[in-house]
Amino acid sequence: MSDHTRGASPPVGPPTTASTPRGELAEIVVNLAAIRHNVRVLRELIGVPLIAVVKADGYGHGMVEAARAAREGGAEWLAAATVAEALQLREAGYAGPLLCWLMLPGTDLERPVEEGIDLSAYSVAELDAIAAAAETVGRRARVQLKVDTGLNRGGAPRSSWLDLFSRARAGERDGTWKITGLWSHFACSDEPAHPANDRQEEAFRAAVALAEDCGLRPELLHLANSAAAVLRPSSRFDAVRCGIAVFGLDPAPGSTPDLGLIPAMTVRTRLALVKELAPGDAVSYGHRWVADRPTTVGLVPLGYGDGIPRHAFHPGPGPSAEVAVGGKRRPIRGTICMDQFMVDLDGEPAGIGDEVVLFGSGPDVPTAQDWAEACGTISYEIVTRIGGRMTRRYVDSEAMP
Ligand SMILES: *Cc1c(COP(=O)(O)O)cnc(C)c1O
Repeated sequence: MSDHTRGASPPVGPPTTASTPRGELAEIVVNLAAIRHNVRVLRELIGVPLIAVVKADGYGHGMVEAARAAREGGAEWLAAATVAEALQLREAGYAGPLLCWLMLPGTDLERPVEEGIDLSAYSVAELDAIAAAAETVGRRARVQLKVDTGLNRGGAPRSSWLDLFSRARAGERDGTWKITGLWSHFACSDEPAHPANDRQEEAFRAAVALAEDCGLRPELLHLANSAAAVLRPSSRFDAVRCGIAVFGLDPAPGSTPDLGLIPAMTVRTRLALVKELAPGDAVSYGHRWVADRPTTVGLVPLGYGDGIPRHAFHPGPGPSAEVAVGGKRRPIRGTICMDQFMVDLDGEPAGIGDEVVLFGSGPDVPTAQDWAEACGTISYEIVTRIGGRMTRRYVDSEAMP
């Protein structure tokens, strides 16, 4: 050994992304046929072009794969939240109409302009930034104006509409961009009787009229997300932006008619251990569940480190979440840990290695919506946060896995 290598540190390799082995214990199964089916059902019901929203890694289903399935099902457009997500869709080979709506000062707008991505502008400052990018790239940008009609989140507040539209028109005149769309977003579309819906739709119509007064003729007016697209035909305009319903989850629990949507995501694993409990035995951290009878419990090798909400077990109010073991729903018992939790098998035959379905579709399988209700949240959060150490596997089957 030569002197100069002695004591040298080991060479630094490329960063490893998988320091924890993934998918060893559990998997997320995404059924692409379900996504195609849901888009077909929605597209037929709604009757206007469908913009499939695949932000946040396709609501946890995998952005690129979900996007491809949505297109195959008949979605005319795709949308993502961020510029980076939209660029990732382009890199995956998607060349069709594509919208995004979230950027910061300093976000590189040259690449999205080059790539023909529709950028949303909320303000004159954003229009100026897009103009600079279009000038550098030497290409006409595609811009959709987003107005705030009462969500009070993103979008141009009403007091700035005239300035925004005037600047937009000026840029259209000098060839900087084409204003391809005008859009807004509902606050309460999952509550169809909420008075804010009428007010927002009225405000949107006022924005459209003002834009026209300013000489703008955007091709694509859109307001509705999944819930509004399904429940509020007057809000469909030229297109709808559907996310959650594309993935087969109910956009307005309690209000949506049965459309035959199929949840595309199934989360499953196997029992790692089964043990007997006597009355009085308490389970997991804090001993927050105590057996009141002899029973058996099974160990599920997943926890909040994998996106299982810790709140899925709680002493009340309302029941904790359930999983399916051997085709039967079984309640979670005791605190959810980082890597594991216990389910009550109620003394029925079950053994190590038996399949556990956390949620999915089909009879006797809890849905992401059931989990959301048990956790005091919405199904969006359940599917978007799940993951951690699980692998994702794609199937393409009319029958669920
Ligand atoms: C996420 C999002 C959507 C999709 O909403 P769903 O309720 O999932 O259909 C539509 N528009 C905007 C602006 C969004 O942020």
